Amino acid sequence: MNKSEILAWLLEEDPGRLERLWSLADNTRRTHVGDAVHIRGLIEFSNHCRSRCHYCGMRSERKALSRYRMTREEILVSARGAVARGYGTVVMQSGEDPGLDVEWLADVIETIRRETPLAVTLSCGERSEYELARWHKAGADRYYLRFETSDRILWKEIHPSGRKNAPHRLDILPGIRDLGYETGSGILVGIPGQTWSSLVEDLQSFRRLDLDMIGCGPFVPHEDTPLGRKYLKPGRAGSKGEQTPNTDLMTYKVMALTRLLCPDVNIPTTTALATINRETGHLLGLRRGANVLMVNLTPIQYRSLYEIYPAKEGIRESAEEQLDRVSVLLAELGRTAGEGPGASPNYESRRRAMTSQIAR
Ligand code: SAH
Repeated sequence: MNKSEILAWLLEEDPGRLERLWSLADNTRRTHVGDAVHIRGLIEFSNHCRSRCHYCGMRSERKALSRYRMTREEILVSARGAVARGYGTVVMQSGEDPGLDVEWLADVIETIRRETPLAVTLSCGERSEYELARWHKAGADRYYLRFETSDRILWKEIHPSGRKNAPHRLDILPGIRDLGYETGSGILVGIPGQTWSSLVEDLQSFRRLDLDMIGCGPFVPHEDTPLGRKYLKPGRAGSKGEQTPNTDLMTYKVMALTRLLCPDVNIPTTTALATINRETGHLLGLRRGANVLMVNLTPIQYRSLYEIYPAKEGIRESAEEQLDRVSVLLAELGRTAGEGPGASPNYESRRRAMTSQIAR
């Protein structure tokens, strides 16, 4: 698919033609990654953050937000909960926590890998090469770092890093992959300042980066952030002209095109998508390219503090309610829960190629 074909799909409004996009994506999903929906248990283990991302409610300047870091034991209890519910992976996510001790997290990862059959995905923002290598050695299988937008000028504006000459996340991801991680990334759909052509470029970057997991969610404005304030300003013009919309429909288009461009990757339906469409966000996401579902295993008392954006979906839901919701969803889709760690075919074939190269 070339640039103009991608753009044409992004701009498509005709419901009949969109049905064609959904069915192309769904068929590609079935052929390449099958009918299993892999369920990932999400543990939001720390909301401390040194960063000041203009879109994120956990940015360091939000002094009103109380900060927490889960203890080793709390994380292990959540991980055992994932095993008890039959999930194959835990995703350990945090802010860019400056107090995160490299050996402490290495020990938590080692313990999970030793005591459970779980795969471990980390999503802790931009970390030093030493830390990333140490955590991989400790047993972390995957790393998830969204580049958010491929527009380097926009990225600089909305992600003041405080570090001189900090590389764009696009330039960090190949190093993460070279460490041996199964590597994930993604973007914010409809972030203020995102143009149609930069969104096309985002989708083409997914392919170029040879990613294994691609998660995209809509931008959800948070009133106590610079971008949220700008977005919520009375009288703000709607998404017209160059600005892409942050709607669920735009998110499905991005997910479906991602599946067509990168057929062998794992694609989650994101919490942000379910937040803006509680009724059918996950269902439609899984019918339009996705094959992974995230379930929140963060202890309830911390969930509302992991406030990337307001009114996050599932923040009060108990373990039983989650299990019920997932089984109703799978039944409605006519699909089954994935078994085991559920690595992406893209990663599996890279690993096979690497091992056969070493053997030669
Ligand atoms: N600190 C880590 C991981 C936590 S944030 C990191 O930066 O990678 C996880 C994701 O939440 C981010 O990558 C971003 O895409 C998303 N996010 C942040 N603010 C958001 C908002 N206002 N609306 C929707 N998604 C948001």
